[in-house]
Amino acid sequence: MGFIIFILGLIFGSFANVCIYRLPKGKSIISPGSFCPNCNKNIKWYDNIPLISYIILKGKCRYCGKPISVRYFIVEFLTGILFFLIYKKFGLSSITFVYNILALSLIIISFIDIDTFLIPDVIVIPGIFLGLLFSFLFPQIHNMDRIKSLIYSFIGVTIGGGILIFLGFIGKLLFKKDAMGGGDVKLLGMVGAFNGWQSVLLTLFFASLFGTLISLILILFGKKKIEDYVPFGPYLALGAVVSIFLKRNLFLGFLIH
Ligand SMILES: [Zn+2]
Repeated sequence: MGFIIFILGLIFGSFANVCIYRLPKGKSIISPGSFCPNCNKNIKWYDNIPLISYIILKGKCRYCGKPISVRYFIVEFLTGILFFLIYKKFGLSSITFVYNILALSLIIISFIDIDTFLIPDVIVIPGIFLGLLFSFLFPQIHNMDRIKSLIYSFIGVTIGGGILIFLGFIGKLLFKKDAMGGGDVKLLGMVGAFNGWQSVLLTLFFASLFGTLISLILILFGKKKIEDYVPFGPYLALGAVVSIFLKRNLFLGFLIH
């Protein structure tokens, strides 16, 4: 079963690649089918098999030979692995279903944020409502009865959004510039909707930790300057994924149901 979930993850990862490429351009994610952005030739189904086609084609377009970004491969693999690990933790359950949807959304959001420095409203706003809806439909995610679960999710949205608005306000007082984007606020609200308010605090903690560490490493190796803008969305996503895996663990997980 684990292998099937992994394959399912690869297929959704392939879909994530389409979203990452097309959503910021305002293009439809349904039609037309995949095509090479260089020579515009349609990509045949046998050249569009996750991971395998990339290896067979040695990362190049079959028609024009233009290199295909290794990121397509990475996004597919990452989605497959996350789907698999979430299944390993929560089994064949509604919890796995809900967190796989969250993980997929976080991957799409992260790579769009890296490309454009923007977090797409078309994902985070429906994401907030989906988190509320799932909390009501599948209260076992929070291990509560239905009404409590919905309230818990709602408090998660409020604290997730609220805490970043508050930090942004403090940042503006101290540094006289906008530190937090509106997209980050909505993204943490979405994490709160899916995962509750304790998870919001853990997510923010790990996002800040990873953000600081990775930025320090990049600055030390001269890949970035201190004043460079760093998108915070991918770190929030990483923090949210860590907090999913801490759920029901003894260490730190005692904070989360
Ligand atoms: Zn081509």
